[in-house]
Amino acid sequence: MIIAIDGPAASGKGTLAKRLAEHLGFHCLDTGLLYRAVARDVAWLGFRLDDTWAAVAVARGLDPRELEDPDLRGTAAGDAASIVARIPEVRAALLAYQRDFARRPPGAVLDGRDIGTVVCPGADVKIFVTATPEVRARRRFAEFEARGAGVAYETVLSDILVRDARDAGRPNAPMMVAPDAMLLETSNLSIEAAFDAAVGLIKRKISHPGRS
Ligand code: C5P
Repeated sequence: MIIAIDGPAASGKGTLAKRLAEHLGFHCLDTGLLYRAVARDVAWLGFRLDDTWAAVAVARGLDPRELEDPDLRGTAAGDAASIVARIPEVRAALLAYQRDFARRPPGAVLDGRDIGTVVCPGADVKIFVTATPEVRARRRFAEFEARGAGVAYETVLSDILVRDARDAGRPNAPMMVAPDAMLLETSNLSIEAAFDAAVGLIKRKISHPGRS
């Protein structure tokens, strides 16, 4: 069984995917980490992030088992990832790994931007997680404050808006709601409530597979 979770930056889709996978005993892949790792390695080698040749070479040689680097989780890494993610050949190089992962028994939850549309268009369940940019920025800002990182709320919000526009506006595999995805709007939901709502959507989908 494959569960596809897509959504914009800081929508909470990663937390949700992890919780669902734990609950169901499924494997979980945060596909954003693949793009983040490609960007990290391109920069580390001294190339520009929009250098197609370098980014494609790194993507083809990426070892997906090496995604544990805590620096990959930061905002700068997310922003850099969205630059290499615009390159179609980079996306193509990462596709087979994601599709193989999705087929792991007994099931897998993958989160990203194009899981329900490109990576696993035949996924059994597709959920698109949303929240207003302001709510997402407030959540991210709270995480930064808790870590003592001195970033202004306005900066967090404008970074989120820039990344949304880049991810939704690229011609190749843009962030979009798959026609058969179920929307989960979490602006007014706690993590717990979002998890319960997602479990409800999955149950509904499994008992009425034709409906979205
Ligand atoms: O989800 P996360 O914020 O970690 O993703 C970082 C960036 O990687 C996104 O802004 C997006 O540009 C890219 N990405 C993508 N397709 C995915 C997952 C992430 O293009 N499936």
